[in-house]
Amino acid sequence: MNQGIRREIGVQPRGIPDSRHMSVSDHPRPPVDGYSLSRYSRPGFAGAGKNQMSQKHTYSIRCPKCGKEQKVDLYESINVQATPELKTKLMANELNVLTCDDCKLSFRVDKPLLYNDPAHHVMIYLIPMDEQVFDEGEREFADSLQRLTGLLPEGIDTPDVCLVFSRSELVERIFLFDAGLDERIIEYIKYMIYTNNLEKLNPKEKNLLFDAEDSTDEKLCFVVQDAPSRRLESLLHYDRKTYDALAEMFDEDEQTATLLELFPGPHVSARALFLKEPSDPGRPATP
Ligand SMILES: [Zn+2]
Repeated sequence: MNQGIRREIGVQPRGIPDSRHMSVSDHPRPPVDGYSLSRYSRPGFAGAGKNQMSQKHTYSIRCPKCGKEQKVDLYESINVQATPELKTKLMANELNVLTCDDCKLSFRVDKPLLYNDPAHHVMIYLIPMDEQVFDEGEREFADSLQRLTGLLPEGIDTPDVCLVFSRSELVERIFLFDAGLDERIIEYIKYMIYTNNLEKLNPKEKNLLFDAEDSTDEKLCFVVQDAPSRRLESLLHYDRKTYDALAEMFDEDEQTATLLELFPGPHVSARALFLKEPSDPGRPATP
């Protein structure tokens, strides 16, 4: 597995403290105070029009190790056409990373972030959210979109914004769009992989991440990640020809409707479909 996919899921190839992977959004429990800002800050959609420049805001963040509070500027939206180096930082897991003045701990703060790539017509909105409360995240997003629609100049449509709930999902989506792939077809393939391997690959416990950097013209690669521990477990290969056949099939209007019915969006996720299934009485209550 190469460095790209390691970074994709927040594993640091170099000697950066472990706490930096405690990232917050993928944590099964409410994060340490000062880590995740998702509940406290409203999505920064103000003026998120196509040509909106990258935006920062100042936050007071408490160090998770020593408790020292400091004021820092964190990105709420990045325009990667205007500022490509912000994309590089995001992909290298260096965006919204700060170092404590006192104990020098380096850690990432996960907060809502709009990724805007106008050149490729890609807008992805990240709301760091526990997987037990995806529904809440979708409602929060719907509220944000209503506000956004009111903010846009007349004649400009609400952009087709993808919604993701974790940084690894965001980075996966960016790789996927950069590779010219369709997120619904990739999620449909994941849906089939889960369905055919329910015994070995329980979607409630295992995450499937598309691995663009190991994929080739012949095969698509997926990484199996244990959701609770975030540990990477194995690589799965999938015949690229099947993707092409599906892309062709879903090109027909009727089939596209089927795909849209399965994944209406804005959060397109095969795993979320399984997580939503009510057949899980043992699900822990959310605090
Ligand atoms: Zn500190």
